[in-house]
Amino acid sequence: MDIPKNMRAMVLERLGEKLKLMKMPVPKPGPEQVLIKIKACGVCRTDLHIVDGELPDLKLPLIPGHEIIGIVVGKGGKASSFRLGDRVGVPWLGYTDGTCRYCMKGKENLCVNALFTGYTIDGGYAEYTVTDHRYCLPVPRSYGDAEAAPLMCAGLIGYRSYRMIGPDTERLGIYGFGMAAHIIAQVAVHQGRRVYAFTRRGDVEGQKFAKSLGAFWAGGSEEVPPEALDAAIIFAPVGSLIPAALKATDKGGTVVCGGIHMSDIPSFPYGLLWEERVLRSVANLTREDGGEFLKIAPEIPVKTKVSTYPLEKANEALEDLRNGTFKGAAVLVMSES
Ligand SMILES: [Zn+2]
Ligand SMILES: [Zn+2]
Repeated sequence: MDIPKNMRAMVLERLGEKLKLMKMPVPKPGPEQVLIKIKACGVCRTDLHIVDGELPDLKLPLIPGHEIIGIVVGKGGKASSFRLGDRVGVPWLGYTDGTCRYCMKGKENLCVNALFTGYTIDGGYAEYTVTDHRYCLPVPRSYGDAEAAPLMCAGLIGYRSYRMIGPDTERLGIYGFGMAAHIIAQVAVHQGRRVYAFTRRGDVEGQKFAKSLGAFWAGGSEEVPPEALDAAIIFAPVGSLIPAALKATDKGGTVVCGGIHMSDIPSFPYGLLWEERVLRSVANLTREDGGEFLKIAPEIPVKTKVSTYPLEKANEALEDLRNGTFKGAAVLVMSES
């Protein structure tokens, strides 16, 4: 396969600046790495938190992007999981040490030496990338490249959040109806749960969209649903949704925070947590989450609605995400060159 010397990439040089289109050398795979020719890369809300400087200790300069779909075009001597020509997905979790006390307990999502794609190692806003083969995931055949991209984070981390709600949840509230919600609502409806979708106040379009995915009820996040919820997942990065969701949740119910960053949580009376309500967060993902979700997604089948942008329009895609200009997910699609 012909691999060029250089590639185009959208690079964050300094916090607070726009990404810059740059020409860079195509990276060489290390022994445990594959070289991937990127076909598509999703644009996630976490990317906004990264470019806005809301997350600590990032790599700089950085190529963001952790919802990568591409083709293996090169590999190191130990990268035995995939063959040249295989289509793979690259998620947020890019590396773990396998030896720390969290890894030893099966909690690799909490690994102390974890590396994260498009955050502490370079990601997918580029034409090529190298990643550790052990953290790449096979992509279900029934999805196109752009349609598969949002499965890699909104899908996987959304699914990890969904796994935390408890198996006997009949009524599930979802706060913040972006990409993760759009995917998880389909899984929940398929599994016979009632979905209550909470959007920004007055977002009639968003509420209509949620209903089109099978939501039983849709309303503004300040509203109290007609019945108490068994569990709620909060995907919007808004701390004041925590007391709102606890208020809407029944005794013994769980509220899961699915995002990596949230504004401060306002104080609230203990009565909202009392009666064995559980409040928890979800961090990152494990490879087990990935395998499980990518198996059930095509069975349902989970459909993803995407708006595509060329690589060089990554800044526009991020701004459109910030402003909620589209429903579904923004995905950068690399041109054939
Ligand atoms: Zn570890
Ligand atoms: Zn993400």
